[in-house]
Amino acid sequence: MRQKIVAGNWKMNKNLDEAKKLIKQLKKEIKGNVNEDTRVIIAPSFVNLHYAAKKTKKSNIEVAAQNMHQSKSGAFTGEVSADMLTNIGVNIVILGHSERREYFAETDELLAKKVDTALGQGLEVIFCFGELLEDRKSGNHFKIVENQIKKALFHLEKSNYANIVLAYEPVWAIGTGETATPEQAQEIHAFVRELFAKEYGNEVADAISILYGGSVKPANAKEIFSKPDVDGGLIGGAALKAEDFKAIIKSI
Ligand code: PEP
Repeated sequence: MRQKIVAGNWKMNKNLDEAKKLIKQLKKEIKGNVNEDTRVIIAPSFVNLHYAAKKTKKSNIEVAAQNMHQSKSGAFTGEVSADMLTNIGVNIVILGHSERREYFAETDELLAKKVDTALGQGLEVIFCFGELLEDRKSGNHFKIVENQIKKALFHLEKSNYANIVLAYEPVWAIGTGETATPEQAQEIHAFVRELFAKEYGNEVADAISILYGGSVKPANAKEIFSKPDVDGGLIGGAALKAEDFKAIIKSI
């Protein structure tokens, strides 16, 4: 079923002391302040995941990892497997974030493997996609987004989509303070939903949640979330302050 979701990507921010403080604040701020039908997810760094999962277990906050390796286990120094995540109570993983694509050379082909491994291990995937500024300027953004989705996801079965959330994150809007207009977000979200309708039918297309990410703040969240094909947000900078994150959640 299509869900309302607000997810906070903490990126490489917050040491354990800071994470403890933020989680405590979030639990307090969010308790009783969130509509029952809205899912709230936080994605701290790997080292803070175990703590976060344990501390949020009885709350309405869910915990996601920001990445994972495509192999089940093995000699991959510095990497983290899907099994390591589920074993500590983390059942969601963000894959395909533009920073992973840009700084760690993650390709659509690699992401297809990561998606398979994650789903095989029982993880839910928040799959990110989005165009660069030059793609948008040249009018190629629809094609870029279509390719990213087709290459990383369209080998999946219909049933897999019960465990996939999409996040449209135009790269030019991430951490830049520049946000896609609600109309630009809606245009791509509707386009993506149509791609899913063509490939998998209306049932899958109508049920999949598509989040928007890119400089969402308390001041602009409501307008973006009001669009019919925007089912919530993936939030970076504004997820690091409990008050701002709460305000964004309340905008949905
Ligand atoms: C993100 O990195 O997923 C993101 C949306 O960041 P920000 O909200 O800071 O633009």
